[in-house]
Amino acid sequence: MMSWTRPPNFFRGIYPSSYWSCWLEQNVLFSFDDGPGPNTKSLLDLSLEYGIKFAFFILPEQAQKYPEIVRRIVKDGHILGSHFSQHRHHIMDTKTTFLNSLNQSVEKIENISQNTIQYSRVPYGRLLPWQDGWINQVGYTHVFWSLDSKDYNFEPSEKVLKRIQNNIQANDIVLFHDGESVHPQIVQSVE
Ligand SMILES: [Zn+2]
Repeated sequence: MMSWTRPPNFFRGIYPSSYWSCWLEQNVLFSFDDGPGPNTKSLLDLSLEYGIKFAFFILPEQAQKYPEIVRRIVKDGHILGSHFSQHRHHIMDTKTTFLNSLNQSVEKIENISQNTIQYSRVPYGRLLPWQDGWINQVGYTHVFWSLDSKDYNFEPSEKVLKRIQNNIQANDIVLFHDGESVHPQIVQSVE
């Protein structure tokens, strides 16, 4: 999933339980991984200005640092999802280890947010097809993306913006990051 700007469509058939396109009543869904972080509040303010909802796939460690931001994500009506317990690769995990990582992250995030978690996104988007099924079995939906902003490459923000403008299609889920070490102009790129 890593290197494509747009993951090939055949992946949708390999991961039938996952979401690949915007399921909300809006044209596109901007999604943010690894947060909350120092820029999340500005992103929330931006969403109010534009009247759109975002999706945040958060880490429990970050949620503990920014509990009031986590609660605001819920209060403002955004999607709050789990990015698993630690930001590591999960493809070598046994089913028990994999689901422990998911369930423990959900428990911590639910305690902080006082909200039920329905969605998850595995770190790096590195998911095996049967793991997609495991997530589904325990009642959550895995969410991929259809357009990668590649904001993690720390290119000039104009380049990230151009990539989005040149590639975006209706119903896209766009991947961004709002963790501790984010692109310095992520907010401007999103705007
Ligand atoms: Zn991540």
